[in-house]
Amino acid sequence: MSIDLHTHSNFSDGTMTPTELVALARSKKISALALTDHDTMAGTEEAILAGTEMGVEIIPGLEISVLYGQVEYHILGYWADPHNSVLAAALARLQGARDARNAKILEKLNELGIPVTAEELQLVSEQGQTGRPHIARILVQRGVVRTMSQAFEQFLRKGTAAYVSRFAYSAAEAVALIRQAGGLAVLAHPAQNDLELIRLPAVLADLVPAGLEGIELYYPTHSHKVKKKLRALAGEHDLLLTGGSDYHGEVRPGTTLAGGGNVFVPPELLDKMKERLRLRG
Ligand code: AMP
Ligand code: ZN
Ligand code: FE
Ligand code: FE
Repeated sequence: MSIDLHTHSNFSDGTMTPTELVALARSKKISALALTDHDTMAGTEEAILAGTEMGVEIIPGLEISVLYGQVEYHILGYWADPHNSVLAAALARLQGARDARNAKILEKLNELGIPVTAEELQLVSEQGQTGRPHIARILVQRGVVRTMSQAFEQFLRKGTAAYVSRFAYSAAEAVALIRQAGGLAVLAHPAQNDLELIRLPAVLADLVPAGLEGIELYYPTHSHKVKKKLRALAGEHDLLLTGGSDYHGEVRPGTTLAGGGNVFVPPELLDKMKERLRLRG
């Protein structure tokens, strides 16, 4: 039996509702599931209700997109209190920055002769956070591009025609936000923008003293070699190990929740995370 500590719902750029995600977890015999939507905890309440009904333990979570220098990293937070006023205000600020940016991206697309309206974007986004992946989906639906990756390559990534930057917290700020809200801060998919983990030792030397308490070890794209390096670094810094599928629903064909043929995440990890929280008192 596996657990899954990294998933997205339609409260960010996933396609399933939290309830559908929990039902899928149950059907896959996943004992514990963390909902880690980007920059929002708005889906937590629904997930917990569904989890209680279906007998799946739900860990409240989120995934904050941050900048470390010029590089984008993602910080996962577990058991942060969504009602914590400092965290809530920070997430509201991020949503505001996203809304302003989305409007500017649509303006640029309009200028390029691709009219996408705010209403259309809202329809695709459904609820919660709205970001570039939603705009990418519209460009695919329209037949402007064939895939979401192509939408990023041609229009949405830095250096392309409809790119707009937005405010992001630094990694250390996000770690502090999660901790002051009572949560555990974990570095997500450390190899995503650092394939050989060249920068990671320096990043950890900086973020662990700032309050980072774990790294994501089990992840669909992590090779044996990457995992070996991550284990060694985790040992050096006494970091918790976590893992998950980063499932986004059917928008990413061929992906699924943890367990079965996909990434396996040992349930014991969760006990160690809880123990860490208990020791904090
Ligand atoms: P945003 O948070 O709105 O800036 O969008 C960033 C998100 O878009 C990332 O977290 C990824 O999930 C997704 N993304 C970034 N680059 C690509 C790409 N080349 N292809 C598909 N999705 C991407
Ligand atoms: Zn995402
Ligand atoms: Fe991520
Ligand atoms: Fe994610």
